[in-house]
Amino acid sequence: MNAKVIASIQEIRDALATVRTTGRTIGLVPTMGALHAGHGRLIETARRENDCVVVSVFVNPIQFDRRDDYDRYPRPLSSDVEFCSRMGVDYVFAPSIEEMYPRPQRTFVEVTEVSERLCGQFRPGHFRGVATVVVKLLNIVQPDRAYFGEKDAQQLAVIRRMTADLNVPVSIVEVPTLRESDGLALSSRNQLLSSEERQIAPLLSRALRKVQDLVSTGETRADVVKRESLRVLNEHPEVRVEYLEIVGPEDMQPVDQITGPIRVAGAIWIGKTRLIDNILCVPGATG
Ligand code: AMP
Repeated sequence: MNAKVIASIQEIRDALATVRTTGRTIGLVPTMGALHAGHGRLIETARRENDCVVVSVFVNPIQFDRRDDYDRYPRPLSSDVEFCSRMGVDYVFAPSIEEMYPRPQRTFVEVTEVSERLCGQFRPGHFRGVATVVVKLLNIVQPDRAYFGEKDAQQLAVIRRMTADLNVPVSIVEVPTLRESDGLALSSRNQLLSSEERQIAPLLSRALRKVQDLVSTGETRADVVKRESLRVLNEHPEVRVEYLEIVGPEDMQPVDQITGPIRVAGAIWIGKTRLIDNILCVPGATG
């Protein structure tokens, strides 16, 4: 069955009203398109857990802090629709900018604290844009469940907190990160890397695994594990580290002493491409 592509808010609402009145559950997978097997994991999980699956494809301008990043972002809609059809998606909701923002947006959702560090510190307004578009999508689709990747752990923490604080009636489901065999987390931005840059890219996941190894074998000093992990990243002169932080998994605030589960998150630049990744580390657990 082909996925049905819908660009209008009214039309997707009408289609889903019928689904809901017949008692069927709805799962939403919000994406910016350029779909890959990582998104596929989210879709598969949504397919298993719901009667009807909606994938939204929308490159959201208000979450980009740099115009060139927005312009360069890949937009292969027809292959995305084929991908969704193969995965048994019912609806692809692919609105235009005018459909989502028919007038200047004057209402924004801001999740304080959780969105301040890591990407929030280096991409001003990013999480405000993410939280705002996600609440719009949740209001349009009104799903029972919405699926987000661990790959964007801070985004997930922001959305969990937003839906809890604003009493949005949806379950947020976390899906583990899918990686290439060399450790690189799948990302739509990977296709922007040259073949030389692609060779270097797995260094980020290696640096994060270094933290996981140290924490699992009993190191509790965050500054020590951070230093060791930066040593891995600094191996390659082409890599520019934007941040590498050890944070609490829910509040995304830095920790000094690792006494419980922590998340290590990093962002690096290779040439003109920015890559992010993170992993959960549990003291005393082997990764
Ligand atoms: P994006 O299209 O990059 O906004 O991503 C849409 C969703 O897919 C987000 O919830 C991401 O966290 C998730 N995602 C992206 N890459 C991966 C991956 N490698 N593994 C699992 N989920 C992913």
